[in-house]
Amino acid sequence: MTHPTREQLHQMAQEKSGELVQLVSELIQIPSENPTGSQRPVVDFVENYLKAAGIPYEETGNNPEFPCIVAKLGSDEGFSVILNGHLDVVPAGDRSQWDFDPFCGTVTDKQILGRGTSDMKAGVAGLLFAMKILKESGAELRGNIRLHLVSDEESGGEYGSTWLCEHGYAEKADACLIAEPTSSNDIEIGQKGGLHIVLKAAGKSAHGSLGGFKGDNAILKMAKVLDKLPRLTTIEGHFKDSQRHALENSIRSTEEKVGEPGSGEVIRHVSANVGLISGGTRPNMVPDYCEATVDVRLPIGVDHQEIVDMLDSIIAECGVEGITYDLHWKSEGNYTDEDAVIVQTVKKNAEAVWGLEVIPAYQWASSDARAYRAQGIPTIQYGPANTEGIHSYNENVDIEDVVNAGQIYVLSLCDMLGVE
Ligand SMILES: [Zn+2]
Repeated sequence: MTHPTREQLHQMAQEKSGELVQLVSELIQIPSENPTGSQRPVVDFVENYLKAAGIPYEETGNNPEFPCIVAKLGSDEGFSVILNGHLDVVPAGDRSQWDFDPFCGTVTDKQILGRGTSDMKAGVAGLLFAMKILKESGAELRGNIRLHLVSDEESGGEYGSTWLCEHGYAEKADACLIAEPTSSNDIEIGQKGGLHIVLKAAGKSAHGSLGGFKGDNAILKMAKVLDKLPRLTTIEGHFKDSQRHALENSIRSTEEKVGEPGSGEVIRHVSANVGLISGGTRPNMVPDYCEATVDVRLPIGVDHQEIVDMLDSIIAECGVEGITYDLHWKSEGNYTDEDAVIVQTVKKNAEAVWGLEVIPAYQWASSDARAYRAQGIPTIQYGPANTEGIHSYNENVDIEDVVNAGQIYVLSLCDMLGVE
């Protein structure tokens, strides 16, 4: 039997692009909102797709309502690529804000519409489609593809990628491609880390009518500290010389995307958001307790000690007694080197398919990539998307993005798995 060539597989991906668009539409029509509900319907749909394609799969995880699907194609030896995606979507929210039914999956002349199109059912469909093409064509793979589809990403990922990585499913992989939404011309090679600081101020209660004369107001003490907290954002990441190029590109593209002058610097700096506050019991009581939670994101190279040192000096400077804090550590900033095979392969193919320069870049948010990078696996994100509608209303994706992503995935898998 003769095996198909890379060029024949590319052609197949082009010819069957209608099938890919249809798959995205079908996935959108299965609401898989998280945190509400169970992910069972979308999981069943994907399992049926894999079954029909003849791709062996297994369901795993530690929560039957939020399972993971793992599938494998190819031989045990050779280069091993993980393809990762999540099946859950954020809730549609206020329906009256949508111009269409969020779960319609309507295909217009240029777009596919609905919650999860960009984040990230189009990406998931692209991965499934690429595996199906390789399977049904009988392509000879020198290595293997491991599919990791998780159903709990939008709500913390407790049952998703981290679980898979901690239970041996990513062992000995050489590369990981996550089909999370990106611009067509940028490959995400690094994400920020993060931690939560829970600040606590203790005061002394008294009758509110004696406010300012008796007692010790915990809210006012907290306010003093919060006022100085923005100083945390002066802490800069520690980038290697080889990361300068991607850093400068990321700052520029972030500024364009966010549309706020100076916002690109969020890539280089710590960000700090005082997102929650509570304190006091009644207006007529001097509050003896106040608590505030700060979401801090760390650029590459900054560890939590730098945050602790500055926080301690801010608190000392405020000169108020009774301020303590807890740190809830999540992760460090994490990255993949630009010269990794997965980065260069996807860059080359994306540039060929799109006919434009594709730039490796860092992101201001965090993602599941950290779980794979923690295992030492070079990991990127590259997926079809219109980034504006993500986690908002009227989410959509361009058909051209979807179709091109499908081709880029097929070509990149061919290159990494020795299909010439
Ligand atoms: Zn996502």
